[in-house]
Amino acid sequence: MERKVRVRFAPSPTGPLHIGGVRTALYNYIFARQNGGDMILRIEDTDSRRFVPGAEEYINESLAWLGIGIDEGVREGGAYGPYKQSERREIYKENVDRLLEAGKAYIAFDTPEELEAARQNIPNFQYDASTRGSMRNSLTLPAEEVERLIADGHQYVVRFKIEPDRDVKVNDLIRGEVVINSNILDDKVLYKSADNLPTYHLANIVDDHLMEVSHVIRGEEWLPSAPLHVLLYEAFGWQDTMPQFVHLPLLLKPVGNGKLSKRDGDKLGFPVFPLEWHDPASGEVSSGYREKGYLPEAVVNFLALLGWNPGDDSEVMSMDDLIRKFSFAHCSKSGAKFDYKKGIWFNHEYIGKADNALLAQLLEPVLVENGVSGFTPEYIAKAVGMVKGRADLIGDLWTQGDFFFKAPEAYAEKDIKKRWSAETPAIMEELIGVLEGIDDMTSANAEKIVLDWIASKGYHLGNVMNAFRLAVVGACRGPHMFDITELMPKDEVIARIRRAIKEIPAPEK
Ligand code: GLU
Repeated sequence: MERKVRVRFAPSPTGPLHIGGVRTALYNYIFARQNGGDMILRIEDTDSRRFVPGAEEYINESLAWLGIGIDEGVREGGAYGPYKQSERREIYKENVDRLLEAGKAYIAFDTPEELEAARQNIPNFQYDASTRGSMRNSLTLPAEEVERLIADGHQYVVRFKIEPDRDVKVNDLIRGEVVINSNILDDKVLYKSADNLPTYHLANIVDDHLMEVSHVIRGEEWLPSAPLHVLLYEAFGWQDTMPQFVHLPLLLKPVGNGKLSKRDGDKLGFPVFPLEWHDPASGEVSSGYREKGYLPEAVVNFLALLGWNPGDDSEVMSMDDLIRKFSFAHCSKSGAKFDYKKGIWFNHEYIGKADNALLAQLLEPVLVENGVSGFTPEYIAKAVGMVKGRADLIGDLWTQGDFFFKAPEAYAEKDIKKRWSAETPAIMEELIGVLEGIDDMTSANAEKIVLDWIASKGYHLGNVMNAFRLAVVGACRGPHMFDITELMPKDEVIARIRRAIKEIPAPEK
């Protein structure tokens, strides 16, 4: 029988979610939706030393912003909870005891000093079948002594007893069958008495099994753990429900070699986090895609194509398109260069087709920052609609359309030189009169009247129109002039022309 698709995104709340983690979450989500499956969000917080306050909320907020929906999780609930590992202590304890009873794991008392000594004395020391017989553990000590040491409160760990010289097969949907020999694996620590908590490996496997996870989709950095995970499934006798593994290619630096890092982002000026992150310990602020002015749909689209291609030349794809087209068969084994410029390109595309009212809302904080207030949402939406085709980031809507909200504070020197001649002030006075006479400022109507006037006077069309623009916008830039004057109140347009006449020094005749 086909298993129900159940996938999980299992971040550790050790800091802000990295953009690579976001891509992992996205692929899990897409795959779940494509197959009518369930998407689980499991918080892997058993390493209390690495716990960072605010990180869990950050994960939730990031996924929500990107439209990566969660079916089961800490906030959503579900039939397989709790979904936070620190609340599943008893479950891990029971399961580690099962391994101990079955002789698949053992208790080890070696102190850090003893382990260090072993490393000094034995070349390439690894705690495994070749060395465990000479260490202090429940395989070498008499049973009474083991009991006594535990009763006396000595710290211990539980180690996985890895069978030597076995070829372990990991079946990976992207990489195919990966075979490694168990001799290279060490007897991994599964549990620590010091905090009565499991390590990542044990908790991860027990939860994947109990939560009936069908596909483990995660970053390539976890591939080396996969053989161990296969062996753990077997040791528990759960091989029939072993999930299908999928290890996603690494995200690589935009230039040079190696893994994408926060430093690359700092150097080249792009975020590596979905949302801005304020580090609670250092106070350091790291930039995020949301605050930088990206639309979540653009980030999703950009990330989806890092390591996967649709098999045709489609680029702009909605989440629904992605869900329809996605397949692991089109995922690459090799790492994906983090082409952040392509990310900007996507954002430009998405801003260009975004709803004006939505863009107006997103611009609101930028307006506030610039001391602008008192405009209706409709006005802002129309203004934004005229400049969105020129914006890469939300902030560009302001730099491109600021004049809709405030009169120019200065006039571009080079445009003055080119367009403001000795005759201009008089012509602008005349233009004020023409504008005052227009009742219907609709773009096409105003355009016809103004152009007829220019023609009838024999003025130079380009010079007059550019002087007009210089007065209203402050520079020779911006959308169609009569679209601007259709939106802006006529008094404001006229006041700006008056001000320009006064402020722009007229050259000598
Ligand atoms: N907690 C691990 C992480 O932080 C999960 C890895 C996995 O998906 O197995 O990425």
